[in-house]
Amino acid sequence: MKKLNLAIIGSGPAGLTAGIYTSRARIETTLFSGMEIGGQLMYTTDIENFPGFPEGKSGPLLMMDLQKQAARFGTVIKYEQITAVDFSKKPFALWTTLPSGVDHKQFKSLSGEELLAAMAEIRKTEPAYQAEAIIIATGASSIMLGVPGEKEYFGHGVSTCAVCDAAFYKDKNVYVIGGGDSAMEDAMALTKFATSINILYRGEAFRASKIMQERVLANPKIKVIWKSNLKEVLGDGKAVKSIKVEVDDQIQELPADGVFLAIGHKPTTSLFTNQLTLDKGQYIELIAHETYATATSVNGVFAAGDVADHRYRQAIVSAGMGTQAALDVEHYLANLA
Ligand code: NDP
Repeated sequence: MKKLNLAIIGSGPAGLTAGIYTSRARIETTLFSGMEIGGQLMYTTDIENFPGFPEGKSGPLLMMDLQKQAARFGTVIKYEQITAVDFSKKPFALWTTLPSGVDHKQFKSLSGEELLAAMAEIRKTEPAYQAEAIIIATGASSIMLGVPGEKEYFGHGVSTCAVCDAAFYKDKNVYVIGGGDSAMEDAMALTKFATSINILYRGEAFRASKIMQERVLANPKIKVIWKSNLKEVLGDGKAVKSIKVEVDDQIQELPADGVFLAIGHKPTTSLFTNQLTLDKGQYIELIAHETYATATSVNGVFAAGDVADHRYRQAIVSAGMGTQAALDVEHYLANLA
């Protein structure tokens, strides 16, 4: 078991910015990236609203630069997945092992009581790490609709990342579900490859920012089916072939090669069930008090970024919260000594 000073869990803008600050402050910092470093910005194209980049910046490149910057000051980045935590006593304990007979993919698919039981089993073993302080920056992930066929064809025509998968849809007919900025961004990304892009939106007026709506509505390749709901994804067992859509109380079957879900995100907090206070949306509740803006319900455990922010969910806000968490940790550790 390895003793750490500060463990940061998560490698998006919040975690990496926290790492830059804490390692510059000479706090020995270990950042657990999970299996995929970089968080949601790895699935985005150009970020046009991150201050300091007048021409925009590619999401993956920004994340690579943040990694380099954190590493430059001494943040140790571990490409490991934390599988269980114990915040009930100090130092806080972290595990990276899996229950016997369960692989990472199976572990990731566990939820509810099954996941709690698996984490309880893991906690019976010796932890991999102990840390004096923790910053949680595990972010959020895509929400699925839960319609028939969606899971079955995930990765075979159903995707939550147009930016990653658009190139597979050259000259194809695709559907994007949602009416927020993600749906607009996905539709635009798909115009580079697909011939026909249809947005299925349940409402009558997009909630996306005006500038992104304007781009989408002005693009002749993109059509919008207002007041529509995806009901089922159908295929031949290998790939998506059609979808069932409800429009005006009528179910229609439409030919489709791809379905891109862009209906929002949920916080990645199942690891912290029964360890920290979560709000009704399962976001980590920040117990704002005079000293620490990023304090959670456990003294010494801080949270930053989308995992604790259901309102703003912007990279720059996450980076700002990462900075706050780093400064909070610095103060907290100085007072422990
Ligand atoms: P949002 O929550 O903004 O939008 C989700 C969309 O999905 C809404 O239109 C919603 O409909 C729809 N939806 C939700 N649940 C369902 C359902 N069960 N069935 C059908 N439709 C559903 O999420 P986004 O991911 O788009 O954006 C999240 C945040 O990230 C925002 O703050 C956004 O501005 C930001 N962002 C910024 C980008 C950029 O600047 N480049 C790119 C992408 C995101 P309804 O409107 O009816 O609720």
